[in-house]
Order: sequence, then C-alpha cells, then structure tokens
Amino acid sequence: MKIKLINTQKVLSPTNISLADYVINPFRGCEFGCLYCYSQENKNIKRDDFSSCLGVKNNAAQALERELRFKKPKRVLLGSTTECFQYQDLQYNLMEKILYILNHNKIPYTILTKSHLIRNCLPLIAQNKANKIYFTFNSSSNTIIRFLEKKSPLLEERLKTITEIIQKGIDLRIHIGPFIPYISELDKIMKMIPAAVKEIDIELYHHQMGRFDKILEVVEKHMGKDLKEKLKKIYKNKTRYEEFAKNLKQTIKEIQRAHPDKKFFYIVPDFSQYYSSTINYEKAIL
Ligand code: SF4
Repeated sequence: MKIKLINTQKVLSPTNISLADYVINPFRGCEFGCLYCYSQENKNIKRDDFSSCLGVKNNAAQALERELRFKKPKRVLLGSTTECFQYQDLQYNLMEKILYILNHNKIPYTILTKSHLIRNCLPLIAQNKANKIYFTFNSSSNTIIRFLEKKSPLLEERLKTITEIIQKGIDLRIHIGPFIPYISELDKIMKMIPAAVKEIDIELYHHQMGRFDKILEVVEKHMGKDLKEKLKKIYKNKTRYEEFAKNLKQTIKEIQRAHPDKKFFYIVPDFSQYYSSTINYEKAIL
C-alpha cells in the first residue's frame, strides 16, 4: 500500500446526503478495495489507485478544529467515500482525534463502516446518545466477501463488533448493501444478525456502483456462467430491474412479518442514475 500524506485545508464538506449536513472523509481511497464501491469514480483518484494508494489527511484534526470556529454542523457524516476505520488509521489515529473534537463541540455524527477497527473508538462514540453507526453486513459467506472485497474484515470480526456496539448502547443500523442479486442471501444474513438489532436497511445494487464488469467476471469465475448471465439480465433494462426490485420488496416484507420487533428500510436507486439526493435513508421505511 502506497501512502500519500495530504496536508488539507478543510475536512468538513457540505453534503446533500440525507444523513447529515456535513461530511468528513479522512482518507482518499480505501484499503478494503470493494469491487462495488462507487467512490472509485472519484475524479481526484485514478481508478486503479483506489485501493493501492491511500491518501491520508494527517492534519485532519487541526483542520477540523479551525473550521469549527466558523462552521456549525448540525450533524456530521463520517465515511461517505472512504472507510474511516482502515488499518492505516492504527498508525495515524485520525479517527480518535476527529471523534474527540466532535464530542468536545457536542456535534452528533453518523458513521458508515464495515470495520472491526471501530471497536477502539466505541467508548468515545457512546458519549453522545445522538451518535449513530450504520454497520455494513452484506454477506453470509467469507468466501464471497473475499471475492468482492480485497481486505475488508471477515464475518467473525464484523459480528463481534456489532455485539460490542449493542453492548455499549450505541444507536445502530445494519446496512445490507449493496444487496447483489443471487449473491447476497438475505435469509442467511438475517439468521446471522443478532436478535438485539432493531434497524435494518437493504440497498439494492446498482450497475453504476463500482466495477460491474469485474463483479460479472468474479461471478462467472467462481459461481458459473449461468449465474453471471442471470445477474446481467436484471441490469439489462429498467423494466427487468424494477421487476426484480419489486420481488425483493415482497421478500423483505415476508421477513419483516417474521421480525415484528425490527424496522426495515428499503433503498432502490433509480435505474438511470445511481446516486440521487432525493434518497432519504432515514425515511426509506418499508
Ligand atoms: S469499505 Fe467502503 S469506501 Fe472502502 S472500498 Fe469498500 S465500499 Fe468503498
């Protein structure tokens, strides 16, 4: 992994993602290297460098302190285009410093992560009851995780982390996303999620997310040509995609009936464009 230290002027960027009014991404690129990651389209990074060269904003804490003198975020989103809790952060400790500053300024935050390394920071996150973690748990198989995600934590680490988040009383939502047809097995994932989890969202994969060509290659190589063709067909046109989305909704509704104590959210990106600021993750309740 090549490291590029970035001396940043600002880390707080306004966002139209419904989860917050500002976002912080302490890194540029991501070691975990998920094939479906939409951040690979970031124009500031060469696509092939995304998971092999990591930009580290090593003065992020100082920049944040400076910015908070004149910016007043209502809520900050952490990790919209990178994983905040990457292995490299063990060396730079950026997240601990950032969370400390946000806590000190009483600014609540929402964290998007799939990393067990968040565990070191759970005591800090638990200090404000308004903080929330969206934790990605989108597969029931370590083999599939490794096909799609180069260096992300495996199931055991993710499950341990979810349990600790619950024990600390931190607001938690499990994010089953992206849900990739024929690959993400919803019933198996549901069986693995601890009973104490009360919020689950399912976000359907969109063909403009990351490297659809590479995903198809992986599916063909490891799961067979037939499955690859079935997957390809879903994304061939709007009608097929929407039909799949409708059937998936029915499946989720059945699961919901079996879990009346949980809230389910369902996110289906528009066929013509992956990201839309009209997606409201908080309100996309089934
Ligand atoms: S962990 Fe998140 S940011 Fe990193 S590659 Fe995967 S989807 Fe992208």
